[in-house]
Amino acid sequence: MFDKVLIANRGEIALRIHRACREMGIHTVAVHSVADEDAMHVRLADESVCIGPAPSAESYLNIPAIIAAAEITGVDAIHPGYGFLSENDKFSEIVEEHNIVFIGPSAEHIRLMGDKISAKETVKKLGIPVVPGSDGEIRDIKEAMKIAKDIGYPVIVKAAAGGGGRGMKVVHNEQELQKAVSTAKQEARAAFGDDAVYLEKFLTLPRHIELQIIADKHGNAVHLGERDCSLQRRHQKVLEEAPSPALNASEREKIGEVVRKAVQGLGYVGAGTIEFLYENGEFYFIEMNTRLQVEHPVTEMITGIDLVREQIRVAAGLPLSFKQEDISFSGHAIECRINAEDPFTFAPSPGRIGDYHTPGGLGVRVDSALYSGYSIPPYYDSMIAKLIVHGKTRNECLMRLRRALEEYVIDGIKTTIPLHQRLIRESDFVNGAYDIHWLENFLNTMDK
Ligand code: ADP
Repeated sequence: MFDKVLIANRGEIALRIHRACREMGIHTVAVHSVADEDAMHVRLADESVCIGPAPSAESYLNIPAIIAAAEITGVDAIHPGYGFLSENDKFSEIVEEHNIVFIGPSAEHIRLMGDKISAKETVKKLGIPVVPGSDGEIRDIKEAMKIAKDIGYPVIVKAAAGGGGRGMKVVHNEQELQKAVSTAKQEARAAFGDDAVYLEKFLTLPRHIELQIIADKHGNAVHLGERDCSLQRRHQKVLEEAPSPALNASEREKIGEVVRKAVQGLGYVGAGTIEFLYENGEFYFIEMNTRLQVEHPVTEMITGIDLVREQIRVAAGLPLSFKQEDISFSGHAIECRINAEDPFTFAPSPGRIGDYHTPGGLGVRVDSALYSGYSIPPYYDSMIAKLIVHGKTRNECLMRLRRALEEYVIDGIKTTIPLHQRLIRESDFVNGAYDIHWLENFLNTMDK
């Protein structure tokens, strides 16, 4: 097992990784920007190294500085967390070239899945159902028109290199198509340096359901069930739950087995998520994330498995500590992403935290790097905490979540807690009757 791990991230996820390492007796090295000198991940780690100025491009994305920090501190492995360099195949390659283990899949698998066109082609061959669309990049508008006509409008133009909900355009008719393809190409080139786009049928009322997988270097692959992440704003997840209120045990087992076999066939190693849209009982692959997800705790709460610990174990070459038949799902878990934003206008609200009190009690988990007196820097993602609640049933989970949200005090800034309080009282949500457009509609029509 590793003796020392560098955590190439910040905020709650850096703490999450630190906690797993600590429990495994592994020393941790935090890296941080100048703006994060007082951050909790720096305070808790055994060692810390400043890797550059506040902007991410010069610090958390600064590969030479991170490698230098790893060499100076003599670490055995680097955990990238999510975001930042976690899906950067070059980073994982460079890390391995320095004889340091990258806690994640191979550079080859990151590359393959990082391009949504090659990802779709690959998983299709492995038996995973995909959204109907252009089999590959759209090269000319005539071809696009023909494909769109065949699959039927509405369609969605997506960037092969897209991520974070960017680079997507919904098209309702042939007149809009030409303009959408050219703007999508321009935007994709500007945002990702790659202007390849492809076409997909736009599903009108789907849910977003994703499967958690993990695989080791010994040919074992296991799925850990699904998460329902349909509550989204601007294609960004707001609240996640497991299991999905829309699936029954036999559907879960069926898609789980398809995914497990595909991951095994791919020779993938590490944790990953296969994302689907789910409509009328059918699954349609949209992408694979080759890293830990923000919402991984809901899976941990219903399986009792520490995913980060398992990631570290498989990266160190150990076999998975469980088999598929050892996995069972217990109760229900919901995660609320709490952002430093106005709950209804979503204007960013960084600043200094005054009083701070976290909820507790049975089945309540808070993953956050906040503390009283901490100043949230304006440079990074606005998510400041995740409140995760577990209950024996979805009803119990909802009751507990209501209570926990009431208890949570984060003074000094605006947060999205009041939005979650409103959301979980809505009858559609209580009934589990929502799709990926539900939240946007709710936000447009609610009394603020
Ligand atoms: P990103 O990598 O930017 O997150 P995804 O491909 O995962 O992009 O899609 C993000 C979200 O966009 C999905 O969860 C869904 O809400 C919406 N979306 C993507 N593809 C489609 C589609 N074919 N039909 C309807 N909605 C879609």
